[in-house]
Amino acid sequence: MPSEFALIDRYFKRPTRHTELGVGDDGALIAPTPGQQLVISTDMLVEGTHFLAATDPEALGWKTLAVNVSDLAAMGAQPRWALLAAVLPAPTVDWIEPFARGFFDCAASYGIDLIGGDTTRGPRAFCVTILGEVPAGQALRRDGAKAGDSIWVSGRPGQAALGLAHLQGRTALAEPALAACLAALHRPQPRVALGLALRGIASAAIDVSDGLLADLGHVLEQSAVAARLRIPELPAAGLERDCVLAGGDDYELLFTAPAQSDGEIAAMAARLELPLTRIGEIVAGPPGEFVLCDDSGTVITPATCGYDHFK
Ligand code: ADP
Ligand code: MG
Repeated sequence: MPSEFALIDRYFKRPTRHTELGVGDDGALIAPTPGQQLVISTDMLVEGTHFLAATDPEALGWKTLAVNVSDLAAMGAQPRWALLAAVLPAPTVDWIEPFARGFFDCAASYGIDLIGGDTTRGPRAFCVTILGEVPAGQALRRDGAKAGDSIWVSGRPGQAALGLAHLQGRTALAEPALAACLAALHRPQPRVALGLALRGIASAAIDVSDGLLADLGHVLEQSAVAARLRIPELPAAGLERDCVLAGGDDYELLFTAPAQSDGEIAAMAARLELPLTRIGEIVAGPPGEFVLCDDSGTVITPATCGYDHFK
């Protein structure tokens, strides 16, 4: 088993792209681009709460960074730097090597430098702090949705939750859905390109980590508006529908934009080769309230809205 310092040197010190001083000193030095605001966010993954003990370490390495990248995508930011605080039981090489590979694979995909962190012995958990840049005043926030705006979601929400349900034996998926759902669960693709494209267009945005309705609820409350939802091709009542409406862990973007941008957003979907689905509209009303209809216009009462760690 390598010492703490050998472990950091060997697995977490990699050449950087845009950092003045990275891993190895008491602090890192970065030079933000003039005219840009820094966007900073942090997210934890704890064994037993966010991942199973048996999770493949390479997939976990990817996801540990990806969930943080997703928060910056939701802000319309360009991710640039990350710090990794790791709590590891026995940092065995055959676990930490693939974890680091997955982590740096994600870092390379999104152009992120790992510039520091902390390493401690204990029950396995990871905390990433991520920094990104956005031109001053252009960040996408949760509080800008206005009555009349369209509500959109990227990708195929519900796939990650369905993949997890399969692994837990609560459903039995067949190919090709199985591969797609497990990929969504293990290798989420944070929508950075979409977030960047939505600068100046979206009125509000959030990444879907706790479930579509729960995260929409945050936008509605912070924007002090209500919503009328009509979700195309919503599955019939049951696990699949619950996963679409309340499954967490998708890391898709949910956003609002003035209705006159509908055409521009449809074109964006084609350009980014990413499904973007209009799922309803913002209306004036009690903050946070929504009415949900299926394709035929029938009102639906969802069984559950999403994940809350303290419920
Ligand atoms: P200090 O005792 O001064 O806080 P540490 O011994 O904790 O320093 O860390 C040494 C260097 O290694 C620091 O630059 C720190 O940012 C970096 N580091 C520690 N753990 C990690 C990690 N898991 N990932 C990336 N960098 C790390
Ligand atoms: Mg330290």
